[in-house]
Amino acid sequence: MYWNQDLETIDRPALERLQLSRLRAALERSVRAPFYRTFFETHRVDIDTITTLEHLRDLPFTTKADLRTSYPDGMMAVPRRDVVRLHASSGTTGKSTVIFYTQKDISEWADLIARSMVATGATPDDVFQNMMGYGLFTGGLGLHYGAERLGCLVIPSSSGNSLKQLQLMQDFQATIMHITPSYALHLVEIIKENGVDPHDLTVKKAYLGAEPYTEATRKKLEELWGMDAYNSYGLSEMNGPGVSFECVHKNGMHVWEDFYIIEIIDPDTGAVLPDGAEGELVLTHVNREAMPMFRYRTRDLTRIIPEPCPCGRTHRRIERIKGRTDDMFIIGGVNIFPSQIEAVLMAIPEVGNNYQIVLERDGSLDKVHVKVELYSKMFHGDMKELQTLRKKITEIVRSTIIVNPVIELMEPGSLPPSQGKAVRVIDNREQR
Ligand code: ADP
Ligand code: ZN
Repeated sequence: MYWNQDLETIDRPALERLQLSRLRAALERSVRAPFYRTFFETHRVDIDTITTLEHLRDLPFTTKADLRTSYPDGMMAVPRRDVVRLHASSGTTGKSTVIFYTQKDISEWADLIARSMVATGATPDDVFQNMMGYGLFTGGLGLHYGAERLGCLVIPSSSGNSLKQLQLMQDFQATIMHITPSYALHLVEIIKENGVDPHDLTVKKAYLGAEPYTEATRKKLEELWGMDAYNSYGLSEMNGPGVSFECVHKNGMHVWEDFYIIEIIDPDTGAVLPDGAEGELVLTHVNREAMPMFRYRTRDLTRIIPEPCPCGRTHRRIERIKGRTDDMFIIGGVNIFPSQIEAVLMAIPEVGNNYQIVLERDGSLDKVHVKVELYSKMFHGDMKELQTLRKKITEIVRSTIIVNPVIELMEPGSLPPSQGKAVRVIDNREQR
């Protein structure tokens, strides 16, 4: 099932022609923004020479820093009266940045979301409970408009307030939820504590995104809830969610290439890598009016899956995001991504639904502490059992990250619960 079959199954040459004509138009529009006039001048780029998709590489990258220096409206490429909305990024990595949309931008964004939802099998019969924060964050309103466009009954419950979420879910028979993976892990526990078996709920699908998580976490959530979980990737700089979404095959996320040009680069050298190689995702939005964005460095690590998808969509897929380049930490010379630790933890049956990584400096030595919540039944046995388990977890994590971790076993609910984007790593090393 497609939302727009012609565009979703468009052949590659036609797709590339469309990308190029949209890119040309976006470049011409962009010089109305003070930021871009200066930017192209400083980098000595003549946009009239960008006449093929390969020429895109002649443009310099843009980064979060550019969004910050052009704050508040240096990147606005239309008169202010044509702008109908702004959103701001959640500021996970510093001062927040702002994105503008015209009426057409909002409408096209809603279409991309509707397209994504249909790719997961959603229909107007679905009841969609949107547990992402409403407001400046793009996750709430972004999906909201798309689900309405598709014709779902939308419950704009926003994040948090777990008992209310449960009640709404039951009273209106929600079939799809949109939620961060970390909040989904927390909410399912609250539901069980209230004597409800999550498998008895009507929820059959979840869209999980806004933060990195592993395949092991997806599997765990699917089992705990009794549902199918689909990966959803987006970032405010590219509208928000709806950049890339899994289809029913749940095997990598289609990037909607009629709107976004994908490149994968070596994060150290900036060189463009071939399809299939892992690196940093760089995105160009070819269609936005209010705020064009070219070759934006997402800092997210992934790879393009070059093989065609059995669903028939010709838009290429990217693999689950491994982490952000700036999430990586170095301990004793070893590069470690939180996702490596999460992947092994979530596959251990005794491990509960929350964990936290704390980096400490002990003299000249850096130490990785991993605080792991266990299921409560684990605390009813004897100490020996817990010690054996601690050894087992230490060994599993050590063999993955090649660094000796300090594992701390915690009772369920003792780590701060997540209602939105989880904070997985706390770095106490600088303060010492
Ligand atoms: P901020 O950059 O301040 O966190 P955003 O709300 O724009 O603000 O967050 C976008 C970022 O969230 C992405 O760049 C990515 O790092 C992360 N993200 C979003 N969806 C996913 C996903 N499905 N998997 C992994 N990371 C994701
Ligand atoms: Zn597909």
